[in-house]
Amino acid sequence: MIRIQSKRQCCGCTACMQSCPARCIQMVTDPEGFRYPQADEALCLNCGVCEQVCPILTPPHVQATPPDAWGAAASSDALRLKSSSGGVFGVLARHILEKGGVVYGAAFDDRHRLRHIAIEAPEQLHMLMGSKYLQSDIGDCFPQIKAHLQEGRTVLFSGTACQAAGLRKFLGQEDPDLIILDVLCHGVPSPEVWSTYLSYRESQAESAAETVSFRSKRNGWRNFSLELGFANGETYCESMRTDLYMQLFLENIILRPSCHDCRFKDLNRPSDLTIGDFWGVENVLPELSDDKGISLVLAHTPKGRALLEEVGCQLRRIPTDAQTALPPCADSRRSVPMHPGRGSFFRAFAKGAPVSQWASFLKPSLLLRIRGKLLRLLRR
Ligand SMILES: Cc1cc2nc3c(=O)[nH]c(=O)nc-3n(C[C@H](O)[C@H](O)[C@H](O)COP(=O)(O)OP(=O)(O)OC[C@H]3O[C@@H](n4cnc5c(N)ncnc54)[C@H](O)[C@@H]3O)c2cc1C
Ligand code: SF4
Ligand code: SF4
Ligand code: SF4
Repeated sequence: MIRIQSKRQCCGCTACMQSCPARCIQMVTDPEGFRYPQADEALCLNCGVCEQVCPILTPPHVQATPPDAWGAAASSDALRLKSSSGGVFGVLARHILEKGGVVYGAAFDDRHRLRHIAIEAPEQLHMLMGSKYLQSDIGDCFPQIKAHLQEGRTVLFSGTACQAAGLRKFLGQEDPDLIILDVLCHGVPSPEVWSTYLSYRESQAESAAETVSFRSKRNGWRNFSLELGFANGETYCESMRTDLYMQLFLENIILRPSCHDCRFKDLNRPSDLTIGDFWGVENVLPELSDDKGISLVLAHTPKGRALLEEVGCQLRRIPTDAQTALPPCADSRRSVPMHPGRGSFFRAFAKGAPVSQWASFLKPSLLLRIRGKLLRLLRR
């Protein structure tokens, strides 16, 4: 039976819950706002399925050969400007939808809570486009994908690498009609911290948020901003360097514990394709550097390469070297260290500390900094 000994060892993918034959696992939200499986011992059959499908306890197979890599951007500037990076997801997803396939990805509901959903028409694509910097609730997507594949539909699943790994383990076998795409991933912040922050911004604006963009390119792709549009016509637009939520995210204060011990941040990944921001493109492929957003694309499997070929000139692609484009020191290739103030932040958060006090956790006391350094040294 699945028992979470350490929160670092559960990415919340739901593969265990969705595979349990006794249906005795529930996902329960902890005080930090992350969901973990909880099994009902009285109903458990001790079959061990949950442990076998867990991508952390038994990781899925990944290709051993290094991936092919490209710098890429959608040929349509309009699509690119609406996307977080170079718009590669939008091009691939539209192609799948036009072929009659189904695309799964992360979308906000009407209260700006993040859920994975399925879309079947190009008009719905905007809901999935754009990075949302919080953990997405995968809901019932895994069994729905299985059902779509059994009907013979083509499915494109997009998500983080741990969600991709969970899906692979849940399905248990390769399906020629399934393409798995993951995004390079710094880590995922707490959904509850996001909801509290958004409510705070709404109260400041005295109006409900209607639109949210974590990657507004108003001030360029490199200096992206969090942009909120309110019902009263007001806009909040703040650079990722100065917005409080983005600072807490990028300083590693509000990430899921498993993101500090990520098993999937490698060049070889449990997906067919990986997409991310091509930071440093100006040094590697200066001809693509225009500050409108460039993606780095990694193809791990023949299926992934074939999909890129199929979209043809809708994508501008220039080959590059994966190791140079994504060096081992990149935050999306190694687990980021926990900020020494993370524990104090979440203790205060659980007690209802107001947003106006959150900035103080960005600069922890000297004592906490020394303690954090010692812990990191010991762990090494
Ligand atoms: C939490 C998170 C952290 C990231 N960290 C990095 C990083 O450190 N370095 C880097 O190079 N790139 C990172 N990315 C990826 C990058 O921000 C872009 O998403 C990626 O380059 C794709 O951009 P695009 O222009 O092709 O398409 P977009 O239209 O921007 O694609 C969005 C895609 O991301 C998926 N998605 C959005 N939010 C989530 C979410 N919360 N969980 C799962 N899937 C989601 C959507 O389903 C869709 O498939 C991160 C993305 C997320 C969501
Ligand atoms: S051991 Fe089997 S029955 Fe028990 S929780 Fe795991 S999957 Fe469910
Ligand atoms: S990582 Fe996924 S499968 Fe493993 S315990 Fe957590 S939710 Fe279950
Ligand atoms: S950092 Fe790793 S564990 Fe965290 S969301 Fe990304 S892929 Fe999953």
